Amino acid sequence: MTPHAIARRMAQCCRQLAERGLIAGQDGNVAVRLGADRVLVTPAGLIKALLRPGDMVEVDLRGRKRRGRHDPTSELDLHLRILTHRPDVGAVVHAHPPVATGFAVAGQDLAAFVLPELILQCGRVPLVSYGTPGTPELGDKLQPHLEGHDAWLLANHGAVTVGPTLDAAWIRMESLEHAARIIAAARALGQVNELGREAGLGLEARRDPSRKERRRGD
Ligand SMILES: [Zn+2]
Repeated sequence: MTPHAIARRMAQCCRQLAERGLIAGQDGNVAVRLGADRVLVTPAGLIKALLRPGDMVEVDLRGRKRRGRHDPTSELDLHLRILTHRPDVGAVVHAHPPVATGFAVAGQDLAAFVLPELILQCGRVPLVSYGTPGTPELGDKLQPHLEGHDAWLLANHGAVTVGPTLDAAWIRMESLEHAARIIAAARALGQVNELGREAGLGLEARRDPSRKERRRGD
């Protein structure tokens, strides 16, 4: 994909996140790795649903702006922290999905084995303790949880998903919110039946075969 095609996809992603209610107004941000030391990120302070490809900002991994007419996202440190520490990650999506964030406000993770689709898409989703948005504190809190996960809930704030491509990270964000809604509905009905541990671990191994090795003796 050319940088322009990636920028177009980022704008589509932002529009859809807004249409699906996973962000409001200026909320949320997206980053896509362009090369060894180049990242395309969403701009700060603009309405996400109205972003155009030319609004995206190119930075290096140290956060220096390389191209673009706007300032980069206020959560630039969070995105660069992930891209620096996870070379397998090609894209990061940060949003405020209301039901998943509700779990994060309630101090609850989404790490139980309940829905096969959530396990296959996101694996176990940990809750990262609160860090002030737009400051390095947020990345400091997330960093210890980076290995072995592709989706995180941020306490009293929102969620982050990653993937090898923007589409993969974006799908994970939608799946995370969809699963959170289903689990919240089950709770409202009074019962959440969890999958057995074997079934859960089997699904997890299907999502990431290397995990089976890492988890030996778990
Ligand atoms: Zn946020």
